[in-house]
Amino acid sequence: MTKTSYFCTQCEDNFELNEGEEPYRDDDTQIICDDCHREFYEFECCFCADYTDQINQHNMIVVFEDVHDVTPGIYEIIDKPYYWSAMIDAGFFSHALVRIGDVPKEYEGIGYPSGHLCMHCQELYKPPKFTTA
Ligand SMILES: [Zn+2]
Ligand SMILES: [Zn+2]
Repeated sequence: MTKTSYFCTQCEDNFELNEGEEPYRDDDTQIICDDCHREFYEFECCFCADYTDQINQHNMIVVFEDVHDVTPGIYEIIDKPYYWSAMIDAGFFSHALVRIGDVPKEYEGIGYPSGHLCMHCQELYKPPKFTTA
């Protein structure tokens, strides 16, 4: 199989793809490698650990631990910004979040305060009338 060599404009690594494969490109159409694409444009689903495009990341958030006045649960994000951060602290704007359910037992105590869901998991846990923008 013939390989084509590319230069990642983000991390400045050279990487190879099989002939016919297209490299990822950033917003300015600059070529970037898989690792950089994952780091900048994808996120890991906190339930199933799949990687998903960030475009859909901010529909819902799962809160695993008490964060100020926001208690653990699955939330729909209805307003932006929905979180704030200061030097050593961060939290959510409770008016921007609507609680839609409990964190499923198997995901409790996951070890970090909050995370996002891939589209598949959003489908599984969203309420019936939930709309994805
Ligand atoms: Zn790179
Ligand atoms: Zn998922």
